[in-house]
Order: sequence, then structure tokens, then C-alpha cells
Amino acid sequence: MRISMVSEHASPLAALGGVDAGGQNVHVAALSTALSRRGHHVTVYTRRDAADLPARVRIMPRLEVVHVDAGPAKHVPKDELLPFMGKLADGIAKDWGSRRPDVVHGHFWMSGLASLDAARRGDSGLHVPMVQTFHALGTVKRRHQGSQDTSPAEREWLEPYVGRAADRIIATCSDEVFELKAMGINTGKISIAPCGVDLDLFSATGDSEARPRTYRILSVGRLVPRKGVDLVIQALPLLRAAGFDDVELLIVGGEGDAAVTGADPEGSRLMALAEELGVANQVSLRGQLPREVMPGILRSADAVVCTPWYEPFGIVPLEAMACGVPVVAAAVGGLRDTVVDRKTGLHVPPKDPEAIAAAVAELLGAPGLRSDLGKAGEKRARSRYSWDRVAAESEKAYQQAMAGNAASRELEHMKGAAL
Ligand code: UDP
Repeated sequence: MRISMVSEHASPLAALGGVDAGGQNVHVAALSTALSRRGHHVTVYTRRDAADLPARVRIMPRLEVVHVDAGPAKHVPKDELLPFMGKLADGIAKDWGSRRPDVVHGHFWMSGLASLDAARRGDSGLHVPMVQTFHALGTVKRRHQGSQDTSPAEREWLEPYVGRAADRIIATCSDEVFELKAMGINTGKISIAPCGVDLDLFSATGDSEARPRTYRILSVGRLVPRKGVDLVIQALPLLRAAGFDDVELLIVGGEGDAAVTGADPEGSRLMALAEELGVANQVSLRGQLPREVMPGILRSADAVVCTPWYEPFGIVPLEAMACGVPVVAAAVGGLRDTVVDRKTGLHVPPKDPEAIAAAVAELLGAPGLRSDLGKAGEKRARSRYSWDRVAAESEKAYQQAMAGNAASRELEHMKGAAL
């Protein structure tokens, strides 16, 4: 198949951990790589966000990234990119020329708009089959972030429009299917394919970083309030009261080393909270780290704590599981599918520092339980979440979209013949 991926803000080539660079970048890069390994030709279209980027970058024999001129050639926050989606569609359609792909796969609602726009151009009147992965939904974001949500107002009607117009939707977890249904989208065209984890990189064997205290708990991700790292800081005094005073909370993420130098507002807010609670000496901010060092850091932790307010999928818990480390996970969104309570980690209610402290204390106090959960997590990640498996699921969705398109073409043809 010739597959076009559209990922307007999340380039597969970007460094991870910044405000707008996280799971979607990993997802697009790994899915595209796995599809090209399966023999498909994949082109990823993303917005040029720096002047010196080459027009095309070949990553491997059947995989390339195309930087499309759409808006200023510099970083623009993802919520401000809507005005440039027409230009992105222009660039994609131009690059396709008369050789259009078999399927176009939009990532995030704005890329969905550009994909639909490009897919519907062309003289023949036939559209390129379009598959959509939302990664995050505005309805969920608004519910949790309220007035803090910086999404443009148009998202309220354009996102459901993308859902209705797409030939097929890939939801990354079962929770998302309910959300899509509530948006009025026909669930008959939704497939579920989770995110995967790079099992060559993330595994239970290998070095682990030395740690300064008896225990280490770890938080990894973009430094944004909704990731709930403050809740883990609030759990530290409670852990102390429970007898676990020699615990380090290592926080990885943020833009470059801004969190370390004090230039990251969320990093500073977290450290101020730690000071206020008298636990600053237990908290280390490490800043953004490259993927290659992440497995050694994950393996150094007794538990990885993921307690976001909400989570469309959450790749970090999978990475922890693949490294054989138990996860304390808020029972929200994708984390309810990936982390199995009392099998691969412990679920806690969202926004509940007491429950986080209790779960971490239980793990720190029971090395046998930690080891059992870690082993089961590794097994689960290996058996269900390889990118090859996710690529095979996505392939099925592409075939369904293409078959649906062929059927509607046939219907149009029959209608034409009957007139
Ligand atoms: N990540 C990284 N370096 C960092 C912070 C995060 O490589 O400093 C990676 C992390 O390992 C994971 C991704 O960024 O692969 C975050 O994905 P997730 O789905 O957990 O969160 P999202 O960013 O999509 O909300």
C-alpha cells in the first residue's frame, strides 16, 4: 500500500518531552516504521517548524518525512495551527500530484481536516480513503481543563465533523469509543488499535541508573499540569508518615534542560510545591531526556507513577511495563486498558494523593509484589503491544476504509448507470 500519514504538529523527527512533543510523535514514528517494515510505502507529512529543515528526509527505504510550508517556519503552539491547515492540504495535494496514495491517515483533529481536504481534491471526483486517529478529544480536554483549555473554539464542531467525514476511525482505547459515540459518531466505523512500545529498546534486561536513595519512584512526560505530577509530590509527605522517608521522586520531561535551570514554569511550580511541603530534597527534576537513556532510568525505579487527570492513551506506562517495572496508574482513559489492576500495577482514583501514597507504600513495602507485577507487565507489553501488531491492526482499518470507498464508488457508478 502507499500510505500517507499526516501529523501537523508532531513530527516523527522531533525531540520528545516538550509541551507539544510526546506520545503522538512516538506513535507516528513507530507506526510508520512498522508499516514500512511490513512492505508498505509510507510518507509522513508534517509542518515545517524550522527554516533549516530539508524538504524531504528519508528515514529508511520505504519511509520518508516531508516538511510542508504551512505557516511560519518556527515552533507554533499546536492550538494555534488551525489557520494553516489549508496550506498544509495544498502542500500534501501538490506532493501527491496525480499519484495519490491508497490511504491517508490523519493524526489529531487538525491533521484530520488537512487530510480530508487533500483527499477530496483531484479531477476524478473520487476521494482518497481517509482514516483518522484523534489521539486526544476536545470534549474530554474541555471537561478536565475547562477555561484552561487553549483549543480554538472551532474544535467543538470541526472535530466531530472530522469524525463523521472519516471513512474509518482508529480509537486507541475502549474509553475513546464511548466518547466518540457521545459525539454522535457511528461506532460501526471505529476500530481499536492501541499505541505500541518499542520492544527492542524497552526491555527488562540491561543497565539501570544508580540511585541516590533507598527507593526511587519515577514520573516521565511532558511537563504540563494535566499530567498530575503535583499529586505525586503531595504523596511524598504521606509516604514519609507511613515510614518511607528515603524516597526519591525523579521527574523526567520538559523542554530541554529548562526544568533543571528553573526556566520551565511548570517545573518551577512543582519545585515550589515541593518546598512548601518540605520534600524538595526528595524531588529531582532531570529535564528532557533522549529515548535511548529512558530504559535505564525506568529500570532504576521501584515504581513508575502515572497519575494524569485524563489520558487518551499513555505510552509511558507501556514503556515501564516493557522494562518490568510496576505502574501506579490513575484509572483513566487508556491506562485502564494497558495497566491491569493488581496484575501489572495498581490503579488509583484520579487526583487522589492519599491513594497514590497508599499504592506506592504498598509496592515499596512488598518486593515480591513489585517483582510479580513487573514480570506480568513485561509479559503483557511483549504479547500485546508490539508496534508490528499495532501496524497489522492499522492495516486492517486501512483495508476496510479502502473497501468502503470502493463500495461507494460502485454505488455511484450504478446510480449513474440507472439515470
Ligand atoms: N519522553 C522522552 N523524553 C522525555 C519525556 C518523555 O523520550 O524527556 C517520551 C516518553 O518516553 C514517551 C513519550 O515521550 O515515549 C510520552 O508519551 P505519552 O503517551 O506517555 O504522553 P503524551 O506526551 O502523549 O501525553
